Amino acid sequence: MSTASLKIDLDALVANWRALDAASEGGVETAAVVKANGYGLGAARVARALARAGARKFFVALAEEGAAIRDALGPDVAIYVFSGHMAGDTDTIADLGLIPMINSLEQLLRHFESLPDHPFGIQLDTGMNRLGMEPAEWAAVRDIALAQGPVLIMSHLACADEPNHAMNARQLRAFRQMTDDCGPVPRSLSATGGILLGRAFHFDITRPGIGLYGGAPFEAAKPVVELEVPVIQTRLVAKGESVGYGNSWTAPADTHVATVAAGYADGLIRAMGPKGMLFSGRSACKILGRVSMDLICADITALEEAPKSLSLLGPNQGVDQLADAAGTIGYEILTSLGLRYARRYTGG
Ligand SMILES: *Cc1c(COP(=O)(O)O)cnc(C)c1O
Repeated sequence: MSTASLKIDLDALVANWRALDAASEGGVETAAVVKANGYGLGAARVARALARAGARKFFVALAEEGAAIRDALGPDVAIYVFSGHMAGDTDTIADLGLIPMINSLEQLLRHFESLPDHPFGIQLDTGMNRLGMEPAEWAAVRDIALAQGPVLIMSHLACADEPNHAMNARQLRAFRQMTDDCGPVPRSLSATGGILLGRAFHFDITRPGIGLYGGAPFEAAKPVVELEVPVIQTRLVAKGESVGYGNSWTAPADTHVATVAAGYADGLIRAMGPKGMLFSGRSACKILGRVSMDLICADITALEEAPKSLSLLGPNQGVDQLADAAGTIGYEILTSLGLRYARRYTGG
């Protein structure tokens, strides 16, 4: 075995979906966000496991991602596209029955002209200023849009991972103002963070992503991913010698060093170097020097024997701890995990 293997626990994924589903009232439907190849874990396998568990609505960022989900799940699920109806997406949207979340007047016109009878949703901007129609734009097109029967109206929270942030209440108020009088059209405001903010944020459909995959802010999430990296070589580095590019680490004492087969080309970002750890059982092995393209060196002096592999993600270090060490967020760690890995699935 010369490449690392990414172990993905589909039972844990399903348990996380069920737990987030249980966090809202019975009348609220819990969808699943499977954009970016299911947060790097393989969209088809992830979506199939969630569909078997009962998920019926799936959200993706791009029409191409929607095509992969349709291919995996067949005709019986609804697939919503956050980027809406982009030029060039019309055939994909039509042929695969995707539901574009319309973000602007321009997209609305494109949709009505090219696919007048095809289902669509509306995305509103309630303050994040990223996607969606702003209040004035919505006020101008609202009646026309509602007359065509959107199947969903949604917005997205900017600060939902900070429960006490004033932005949450501000966006909730804006969303209600823009949608309270829109009749029976189902509404959706919350991703993982918003689900945890409580009932007022749930509306009809929730859209968890990161929590399904074991990441913060869903603290109770079961870990879904393990990453074990094979050791290629070990050596004794004498006091005063250095390790890796730029001689950025010099041994303060004789040090036993393991070189493992993973690097930034596998998505193990260089920022992990200075504070990062690999684990052998419960023993932490500090990363030494810079992360290279295909290799990382770690201090195994404290281990009784040279390990065959070291763990980067596992029981002793989850996605968020690793993200903290690298100064980033769990989302970036997960979606960076390289295509070079063999993915091995359990459960589901
Ligand atoms: C990514 C995304 C989600 C899922 O967010 P998580 O924080 O991963 O739960 C939901 N809605 C929109 C619009 C998104 O872009």
